Amino acid sequence: PDLKIVVVGSVAAGTSAAAKARRNTETAQITVYERDHDISYSGCGLPYFVGGEVADIDDLTPRDPAWFKARYDVDVHTGHEVVAVDADGRTVTVRDLATGRMFVDSYDELVLATGVRAVAPPIPGVGATGVFSLRTPSDAGAIRAWIEDSESRGRTVRSAVVVGAGYIGLEMTEQLVARGLSVTVVEALDHAMPRMDADMSARVDAELRKHGVDLRLATKVVGITSDDDGVAGVEIDGVGSGVGADTAHIDAELVIISVGVRPNVDLAEQAGVRLGPTGAVAVDRRQRTSVDHVWAVGDVAESFHVITGEPVWVPLGSTANKMGRIAGDAMTGGPLEHRGILGTSIVRVFDLGVAQTGFTEGQARAAGYDVEVLHNIKPDRPEYLGGKPLVIKAVADRATGRLLGAQAIGASGADKRIDVLATAITYGADVADLFHLDLAYSPTYATTKDPVHYTGMALT
Ligand code: FAD
Repeated sequence: PDLKIVVVGSVAAGTSAAAKARRNTETAQITVYERDHDISYSGCGLPYFVGGEVADIDDLTPRDPAWFKARYDVDVHTGHEVVAVDADGRTVTVRDLATGRMFVDSYDELVLATGVRAVAPPIPGVGATGVFSLRTPSDAGAIRAWIEDSESRGRTVRSAVVVGAGYIGLEMTEQLVARGLSVTVVEALDHAMPRMDADMSARVDAELRKHGVDLRLATKVVGITSDDDGVAGVEIDGVGSGVGADTAHIDAELVIISVGVRPNVDLAEQAGVRLGPTGAVAVDRRQRTSVDHVWAVGDVAESFHVITGEPVWVPLGSTANKMGRIAGDAMTGGPLEHRGILGTSIVRVFDLGVAQTGFTEGQARAAGYDVEVLHNIKPDRPEYLGGKPLVIKAVADRATGRLLGAQAIGASGADKRIDVLATAITYGADVADLFHLDLAYSPTYATTKDPVHYTGMALT
């Protein structure tokens, strides 16, 4: 072959890189090493398998190595961990986890797509059975089995504690409630979705409580209790703010830890690759690292902010796919370059879509902007066709009028508005520009003046 590409990691970013490289060149030899056994799966769909909204795990893991071989002539080796990189000799050392056999493979271009791992907080008792974090299909299967087999084990799972109220914690909360469990969410900060502005995330707090979730804010889990049958509960410390806020112990037969993720940079560091200020791997716009012929894509890699150009790290599947495609293109002579991110994201929390893009008010102020806040609550459609309030909070630079970010929360339509606003920010729109956007209208979908138009009218 004229080019030998080795990819480490095979979920979103690694497989995108391999697939794009193959589309650009028929002759390259492309090999992917993955230490897990599932590949190219939808991590984002896992909470819905736990809850039963997705019935079959195979729906989230539709591809296997044979599929990649047939479709892309890419050799995917699962159960194979890359344990070392020799960047000067351009080789990797690989361990076959089934046999323990070690071997060396060579590369012309090496793609690190090693992703993240869930943070394991140093809580006494965190190793008890029945305490999980959610990252892989195996995790999802184990959580679901822990619930479904619990009656036959003799301790039926009726209540759960979710530690951490970020988006994964809240997706799990929704799905566990859907399964009929009573759920307590313990969050160390003052609100659920703590990365949003407090006035917006307070709406998420209210939605959780409306659905019977016992939400303990400004509260920490300081211990996990268990016996021979597994986890029995958690010890909490803090003011709490839910029903029974003075309780120091919460019974639970299931605990989900969702307190964040950290990039798997060990291999990159071992290869001598420079990390950025966020702690993830520093890359240029083509996803090249500081070491020749070593690329980094997906959650392990840093990105940069569309508005400021500064390094940022927001590990999301949307970005991971894009980065993989860019690296696969660039290393085979293509023109693609990364254009940065706004950290655009959305999560369903019971009956609400909760979305954000760009800077929050807090982030914009911290970045030194003189901030103009634009706030409106409008129905997403006419009320005569079931319209419900959609709250949009946008922030702009008072000096220039430029839009810096937006948050949207509503029963429907938050997804569309956040994407319009993300697009507008990407192309440098001012607040006033929003009013002039020619947006689709029918009363079945929107109002004559769309909520986005109202945001654009706020200053005039
Ligand atoms: P990963 O998915 O972390 O994959 C990295 C792979 O590399 C792993 O399989 C690992 O085993 C392998 N690996 C690491 N080191 C080695 C080594 N040395 N040798 C061999 N293999 C190695 N994103 C969104 O945009 N929207 C969502 O709604 C959303 N929901 C999510 C819900 C959940 C529950 C989770 C867990 C994630 C969600 N995400 C979401 C995030 C999204 O799943 C990730 O951004 C995406 O999976 C990142 O892909 P990746 O390929 O960079 O890394």
